[in-house]
Amino acid sequence: MAPATLAQTRLVHTIPEVRGAVREVRQGGGSVALVPTMGYLHEGHLSLVDRARELADWVAMSIFVNPMQFGPAEDLARYPRDLERDLEMARGRGVDLVFAPRVDEMYPHGEPQVSVVPGALAERMEGAIRPGHFRGVLTVVAKLFGIFHPDVAVFGQKDFQQAALIRRMALDLDQGVRVEVAPIVREPDGLAMSSRNVYLSAEERERARALSRGLERSRALFAAGERDAEALRAALWNALSVPGVEPGYAEVVDALTLEPVRRAAPGAVLLVAARVGRTRLIDNAVLP
Ligand code: AMP
Repeated sequence: MAPATLAQTRLVHTIPEVRGAVREVRQGGGSVALVPTMGYLHEGHLSLVDRARELADWVAMSIFVNPMQFGPAEDLARYPRDLERDLEMARGRGVDLVFAPRVDEMYPHGEPQVSVVPGALAERMEGAIRPGHFRGVLTVVAKLFGIFHPDVAVFGQKDFQQAALIRRMALDLDQGVRVEVAPIVREPDGLAMSSRNVYLSAEERERARALSRGLERSRALFAAGERDAEALRAALWNALSVPGVEPGYAEVVDALTLEPVRRAAPGAVLLVAARVGRTRLIDNAVLP
């Protein structure tokens, strides 16, 4: 028997099972939090669960590698998956329900005809490099909101542009969900945790530090009084000049519009993307 301190985590695979479980929680007067993920959990995902626990009585996590948000040349087929391990981790953190649907549960008729079209926030950075990505993300999140009707949904700052778009979607479409964004959880050497980090060889893992190192350098310049966004951007970009690292973008943007700024003020965001070997990595930092 499991120790009493370990919560019972219910695993369900279908939408009607979710609706039934949520109805029971509602009937008992409980509030509902949702943590959407693609699984292969790490401490970053679990920190979202902890935050969700602070905000609602009942915490659900979805684990779904959403084909709609992957481009044809991307890593859908080899994206890491391990539901058993994920369940153990979710259980250890007291998740009440894990929803792990099959693709045909979420998309019984193939890709939906009607989808959520992101606006200007999706035009640059990840949206420019990954056409259709955010349409896929917003559509699956809108579906999850429709399935769970959560009071609150928790996302990570790690995917800054994604979190900004989801916030905007909830607002623009009056979805009635509070969108909460939790800080980035990092490895001891600064690398932002990501399910994709398992792709990295030992050498690549070392090179991958270029992203967080660049953010640190740029933040240090800001702390020393530099306010010219181009100087901060250059520091971030130059940190990516490492053999084996292929820079994607380095930007200093406004936190709400995601448009580049000329002068950096507290609250502006540094965003960076690079490829290390075959693995695309992203990271960001908000200027203090
Ligand atoms: P994913 O499974 O990669 O789609 O991520 C699911 C959620 O976890 C998203 O809201 C991510 O932003 C968040 N997340 C991923 N990595 C981290 C991290 N290192 N720290 C905090 N949140 C994270």
